[in-house]
Amino acid sequence: MKAKPKIRIIDVTNRDGVQTSRICLSKLEKTMINMYLNDMGIFQSEFGFPVTRHETSYLNANLELAKKGVIADLRLGGWVRATKGDVKAAFKLAPGLKHLNLSISTSDQMIVNKFKGKLDHKSVIKEMTQAVGDAFKSGAKSIGVNAEDASRTRMDYLIEFTQAAKKAGAHRLRYCDTLGYDTPFTIYERVRQLLKAVKIPIEIHCHNDLGLVVANSLAGAKAACDAGCDTYINTCINGMGERAGNADLVSVILAIKYGSGMRNYSLDERINLRKSWRICKYASYAFGVPIPINQPGIGANAFAHESGIHADGALKDRRNYELYDYEELGRGELEVIDTGRKITAGEYSGIKGFRNVYEKLEIRFHDDLEAARILELVRYGNVHNQKPLVDDELKFIAKYPDFAEKIFSMTP
Ligand SMILES: [Zn+2]
Repeated sequence: MKAKPKIRIIDVTNRDGVQTSRICLSKLEKTMINMYLNDMGIFQSEFGFPVTRHETSYLNANLELAKKGVIADLRLGGWVRATKGDVKAAFKLAPGLKHLNLSISTSDQMIVNKFKGKLDHKSVIKEMTQAVGDAFKSGAKSIGVNAEDASRTRMDYLIEFTQAAKKAGAHRLRYCDTLGYDTPFTIYERVRQLLKAVKIPIEIHCHNDLGLVVANSLAGAKAACDAGCDTYINTCINGMGERAGNADLVSVILAIKYGSGMRNYSLDERINLRKSWRICKYASYAFGVPIPINQPGIGANAFAHESGIHADGALKDRRNYELYDYEELGRGELEVIDTGRKITAGEYSGIKGFRNVYEKLEIRFHDDLEAARILELVRYGNVHNQKPLVDDELKFIAKYPDFAEKIFSMTP
């Protein structure tokens, strides 16, 4: 019997999340996100833009962390345009790249009004298949082809495009609801129709312009599973992403696990929701965007009850008013805040204060030379992040100084 189709997560915080207007992450913060996603058992992180020069040191350092087994199970995938030039530059700047998504627009709207006569429907397919071929020749092990604006693409053309991608050897087709135009009804129907015509694993990439992003992601994934194909939902931590955002990582996982009618759908068993609290809190701090009080699972009110009937009911049996347990999301522990004297490590720290900070983290240095080196890196880390480093970042720098040094370097 054929194995049941699986739903996996490809998180795009380090790509769609950081390309969003007004918010950004430092390269150290992007690295920490990859470490946390790895801890959480997520399948893949779209970790950046291989042709963007200021990403080069970060991308190569993270590829080395993967090679070394520090980022052990998480795949690191780059995003480039599906063009000869981008593919060539990507492998020149990040030769260790193994996983790649190649993107090109497929809707009439974009082919006519973006390419402005430079490409037509036929040449879009030609560009894409050539880029896939080039990427394989350059050493890519897995390739996803992104149909940008798939939700506004004529179905006959989307099928033709997908067939060509499959024939060229692509492993996945990314169905991009680039403008958040789909509804759960249309995305289910369109993905079903597409996969009926071409059997290929599919990525569901949705945006929240109509407030439907998690529902659409789920409906698209359900259609793929119903068609017998594996599916990969694109998420961003805390629902960051272009304009109104992408599908929130934790909400998507909760919806698959606890949504009505989803019991028989198979979620990647490596996913560990207990890491949710930590990764969401970190991303909120790193982006400088507070977590809304009503964010599913993670918001301050997600497990709070006040009205008489609700409080009474929740105390009698949590299942009266809670669909899932807060413990499962890694919540429930007290967070201790030091209200007395606090020594912090920053751009202008000296060795004494710095040692005090690390002693509290129970990290000891072999000798003064090592301590001095880590101090210097912590100073750079602070310049780099422009905000106080968190404990996990301080630990990362002490444990992997060579990688930290690489991540902080940038030569325009
Ligand atoms: Zn997007």
